[in-house]
Amino acid sequence: MNDAQRGRAEIIAEKVEAFVREVVVPYEKDPRRDHHGAPTDELVMELKELARRAGVLTPHILADGSHLTQRETALVLRKSGLSPLGPLACNTAAPDEGNMYLLGKMGSPQIKDRFLKPLIEGRARSAFFMSEPAEDGGAGSDPSMMKTTAVPADDCWVINGRKAFITGAQGAQIGIVMAKSAQGASMFVVDLPNPSIRIVRIPKTIDSSMPGGHAVVSIENLRVPNDQMLGESGEGFRYAQVRLSPARLSHCMRWLGACSRAHDIATDYANRREAFGKTLIDHEGVGFMLAENLIDLLQAQLMIDWCAGVIDAGSLATVESSMTKVAVSEGLMRVADRCVQVMGGSGLTEDTIVAQIFREIRAFRIYDGPTEVHKWSLARTIKRNWKAMQS
Ligand SMILES: Cc1cc2nc3c(=O)[nH]c(=O)nc-3n(C[C@H](O)[C@H](O)[C@H](O)COP(=O)(O)OP(=O)(O)OC[C@H]3O[C@@H](n4cnc5c(N)ncnc54)[C@H](O)[C@@H]3O)c2cc1C
Repeated sequence: MNDAQRGRAEIIAEKVEAFVREVVVPYEKDPRRDHHGAPTDELVMELKELARRAGVLTPHILADGSHLTQRETALVLRKSGLSPLGPLACNTAAPDEGNMYLLGKMGSPQIKDRFLKPLIEGRARSAFFMSEPAEDGGAGSDPSMMKTTAVPADDCWVINGRKAFITGAQGAQIGIVMAKSAQGASMFVVDLPNPSIRIVRIPKTIDSSMPGGHAVVSIENLRVPNDQMLGESGEGFRYAQVRLSPARLSHCMRWLGACSRAHDIATDYANRREAFGKTLIDHEGVGFMLAENLIDLLQAQLMIDWCAGVIDAGSLATVESSMTKVAVSEGLMRVADRCVQVMGGSGLTEDTIVAQIFREIRAFRIYDGPTEVHKWSLARTIKRNWKAMQS
């Protein structure tokens, strides 16, 4: 990152941090939540309006439509993540952030104007339809198991199938649907709600930061005009890779911010609370937990910056983002767990944000590829490289 770049990203990050700490954090106790605890759209729109007025709405995409570099994005998104509501307020949350990135890279001018613009302006939110129910034998850890079909008919594609864990499908205005055509996996951009896309159920989940929850969805004879296919038929997995590394990394950025805040709260507790005649932090067991937190937090930050640099250099960073996602999600899980432990019973209550951060990080070890899948894929790369060295 050169000096000019460091300057602009740091300035934006400072504004975002001030906004999240001063304006967003007080909303954490706002009762406007849906059935599984996620903020309602009314609450999110109110926060977005405040972010708009503060000049921090969609702060990672500049007025001329250009995107901050990934290293710059890391600075900004970490600050937006200081509260679980921060990314929603600033429009840096999943899945919109990843969807904006994908549409910005792959969308035709018409798709950008119709679907990307309202997302950047914070007027709409979106959903990404890839995973499918386990009971159908559909795509999960293994996307090649995709069962949803796309068949050409006249001047459109007809899509049928079922999807699962679709974050924000309920209440979204824009959807990116993955389905298999004769050429292979393909992506389609659609308007929501759509009578052919039915929310079957929204299971209650351990996390509660994402509006609309994670829906099971049925798609029946969805007709999508040809010009709403993203790019070429059969290129869906390649495009998914374009979205995947930056989207994985942006989860790491936001949750790093959240865990830094949890660590600060636990540190405050450990410095005030006494047991057995001294403050908790003076007990080696507690001091060591906080010290280990600092080490894990810094390691997460360094891995994110390293991977961001690889993407900025023009690589898809598939291997690097796998390594980073595993290291960061596992490291942050340890941090969140220690924060709960240091705070005793208080760590489990809703009195601070620590308990929610702990629950959110647990889910992060599964979405965007479970830890084991990334390790398995890395092991295959190691084997391939070893074989290449033998020949
Ligand atoms: C909170 C949340 C939000 C999500 N949002 C979306 C969304 O918006 N859109 C979307 O399309 N999907 C979404 N998902 C789905 C997510 O991508 C899948 O849950 C994930 O890909 C795993 O698929 P699965 O749940 O079917 O697990 P399965 O494929 O059934 O795997 C179960 C477990 O098996 C193990 N495993 C699998 N393969 C291997 C292997 N090769 N080696 C070793 N172990 C292995 C892993 O431990 C894994 O956790 C979301 C999931 C969650 C939890």
